[in-house]
Amino acid sequence: MKTPLREVPPVHRFTTDPGVAAFDGVLGRSAVRSCVQTVLDDARASARAGSPVAGFDILRADVLKRLAAAQGHGLIGVINGAGILLHTNFGRAPLAPSALAAAAALGAGYTNLEYDLDAGKRGSRYDRIDSQLRDLSGAQATLVVNNCAAAVLLVLDTFARDREVVVSRGQLIEIGGGFRLPDVLRKSGAKLVEVGATNKTYAYDYRNAWSERTALFMRSHPSNYRIEGFTAEVDAKALAALAKELEVISFEDLGSGALVELEQFGLLHEPTVAEEIAAGIDLVAVSGDKLLGGPQCGIIFGRADLLATIKRNPLLRALRVDKLILAALAGTLQLYLEPDRLDEVPFFTMLKTPVDALLQRAHAICAALREKEIGARIEPCKTEAATGGGTLPQARIPSAGIAVLASDCSADELAARLRAARPPIIGRVENAALIIDLRCVFPREDATIIDALARALVWGTTVKSPHDL
Ligand SMILES: *Cc1c(COP(=O)(O)O)cnc(C)c1O
Repeated sequence: MKTPLREVPPVHRFTTDPGVAAFDGVLGRSAVRSCVQTVLDDARASARAGSPVAGFDILRADVLKRLAAAQGHGLIGVINGAGILLHTNFGRAPLAPSALAAAAALGAGYTNLEYDLDAGKRGSRYDRIDSQLRDLSGAQATLVVNNCAAAVLLVLDTFARDREVVVSRGQLIEIGGGFRLPDVLRKSGAKLVEVGATNKTYAYDYRNAWSERTALFMRSHPSNYRIEGFTAEVDAKALAALAKELEVISFEDLGSGALVELEQFGLLHEPTVAEEIAAGIDLVAVSGDKLLGGPQCGIIFGRADLLATIKRNPLLRALRVDKLILAALAGTLQLYLEPDRLDEVPFFTMLKTPVDALLQRAHAICAALREKEIGARIEPCKTEAATGGGTLPQARIPSAGIAVLASDCSADELAARLRAARPPIIGRVENAALIIDLRCVFPREDATIIDALARALVWGTTVKSPHDL
């Protein structure tokens, strides 16, 4: 007599199925096999419990669903149709091809990361990048660490442990991801002395707050918000001068980290590192993956004597960057040092693309989709993009994209279907339409968008689940 257990199909029927085997390259064969085994174990368990065994097609669909879910759990590329150039959720700045090539070439082998080739002995991992950073900022010395938050922590830990840091009330910021300046100050063992009012702080507020215990006058760039109207803050030059007079260190958490004038890309003026250094600020901390357009890192620029002290802090060992980041950062900075190559930084390429060029691509995408005769309204549209990543909250960048009104589902449902596509496409919903802003979409991705939209719009009729996409 045939037992139900025998009806459970063998593993190899699944692993040799083309639909299942398609996941081998993405997840690895052993992961695919163990997924199949899990599904079959469940089937056997329910057979033992007396339930009928599901047929091959049903079990295969279950396997595919789990594989698609597993694929979604890995770090994968997405198409950014949200129109936010430095979106922290999408990994901020895309890297320049030459920066990536440098990281790939050096990562594949050994390097002189901490080796002095002339002396034949141990060298410093920070020295090589230092000359590029000094050239671009006018600073005497620099240091690269894990991110800007680490840079701030390191500066405070080095100079302000058990001492006081004077900060204007209007600059006690929280940036994304729970990074609150007052908390970081506390964590570093520094005592925060708030001065001024929320909207106004004057130089005499810093002067009055000064005491023998003061270590730093700190400025913080209000990256992601603006106070407008009846406001006053002490500018970098005045604060630096006062700090010198009172013999304390002036420190600016600049965050966004522009190395060049952004007005050339149609944005508002943003203080550059060179300007803050020229204004006399002793130490400036910035992010590498915001307006700089490089890999995630934090950079401290400033006085040579102060950076020498920072480099002796044992905490640096825990915050240091690896060779891949240093290679990618050096590759990015090289483009700044050859100004006619600055456009190779994807962030600047995207900023510079004329709206008309985006509109043309939008028309082409719409035309291709109309040919496929799917029941939806698809139109090119003008949009507004933003820099994001906690930078330039007021910047509205004229942009263009496509607006899709599906006939069989809501814009939210369509957005979910596109997120389930591989690669996922992230749009935004506005006035009941799904908008895909093209400013952050690489032209090479247009064909993928056409394909995914065509599939997503016929989902209800032919596509049964996300893994069919
Ligand atoms: C973004 C930002 C930070 C944090 O930078 P990370 O590189 O993300 O750590 C700190 N301070 C300011 C002012 C910022 O804008």
